[in-house]
Amino acid sequence: MNCNIAVIKGDGIGPEVVGEAMKVLDKVAEKYGHTFNYDQLLMGGCSIDVHGIPLTDEAIERAKAADAVLLGSIGGNTSTSPWYKLPPDKRPEAGLLKIRKALNLFANLRPALLYPQLKGACPLKEEIAERGFDMMIMRELTGGLYFGARETKEVDGVMTAVDTLTYNENEIRRIAIKGFDIAMKRRKKVTSVDKANVLDSSRLWRKIVEEVARDYPEVTYEHMLVDNCAMQLVKDPAQFDVVLTENMFGDILSDEASMITGSIGMLASASLNETKFGMYEPSGGSAPDIAGQNKANPIATILSAAMMLRFTFDLDKEAEAIEKAIIQVLDENYRTIDILSDGKQLVSCSEMGDLIAERV
Ligand code: NAD
Repeated sequence: MNCNIAVIKGDGIGPEVVGEAMKVLDKVAEKYGHTFNYDQLLMGGCSIDVHGIPLTDEAIERAKAADAVLLGSIGGNTSTSPWYKLPPDKRPEAGLLKIRKALNLFANLRPALLYPQLKGACPLKEEIAERGFDMMIMRELTGGLYFGARETKEVDGVMTAVDTLTYNENEIRRIAIKGFDIAMKRRKKVTSVDKANVLDSSRLWRKIVEEVARDYPEVTYEHMLVDNCAMQLVKDPAQFDVVLTENMFGDILSDEASMITGSIGMLASASLNETKFGMYEPSGGSAPDIAGQNKANPIATILSAAMMLRFTFDLDKEAEAIEKAIIQVLDENYRTIDILSDGKQLVSCSEMGDLIAERV
């Protein structure tokens, strides 16, 4: 297969971790007979340094022309970096918001997986961590409360703020279809999360999800109220496969889910549009505190590359080969500093990339 990948290494640890992901992808290409063509683009602080803005129109066009985007992370130290003396729309993060919008990335996927080898990092009770968990939080990314009309004004002498939560049936249907499609590639269970006992937007959400579910007879689905879901995530996370939810609930629940895995350097993410196109990136930021020291954990970015193979290119076997190589490296007790514990062998970012590539 011939795959065109726009690569945005970004700032901080971005170039280090993306370099390791490309190393692993090149090994996949060699072993399975694919060609990965990389088009390297600037976004974030590195683009400000060269072009004066965090993302150029030319970079957007080149990203659109690719099949997928592999992203590291952008931004610097928000207290000391000169990038943060610029107005908000010129700062590194503005590039990220701009590219998400330009590429119409409405579906955000964040896997939360507890590796048995790292269960000591899980902050939950031992008997819960013992059972493990492997879920995909699927969050609607371009609608709902964060994008609705808002204003703050004085009403009868009292300051009053209004935010509007709007969803139409098309926005709900397209994310629900993505959620059920992804469940078909996993354990075939969807938990749709809403607040249908209070909100009209949630009642419409529930109705449309039920309609979509009829087209997926193999998938078991259930509805869960968001407050209950927040509790269930810490009480019994093993029950979840795909958690499908709207923007704000997903924002909060995905952070809760990543917290219970205990290790930010292991968490991948993907944002998809209506086609197979996606942008794939680690959940963490640019970690300026360890940038340039060859200390970062590249696994989140390597797992993001595996998600790209699975969801954009339908290369499930190759994605699995990467995931298995990571498990093997952990089984062999190699750890970067962020996941190091007693008796394990410390390796650098590039050594971790080498070890995984060798085992693909
Ligand atoms: P951060 O995720 O960069 O760092 C938080 C902590 O986690 C740090 O101690 C860091 O060393 C550690 N960490 C993160 N990723 C790691 C990895 N792969 N391996 C080992 N340790 C890792 O969050 P922050 O410090 O709040 O933000 C730093 C910068 O990153 C800011 O400019 C912020 O705006 C930006 N940011 C970018 C993105 C993105 O590009 N999508 C996301 C979040 C934050």
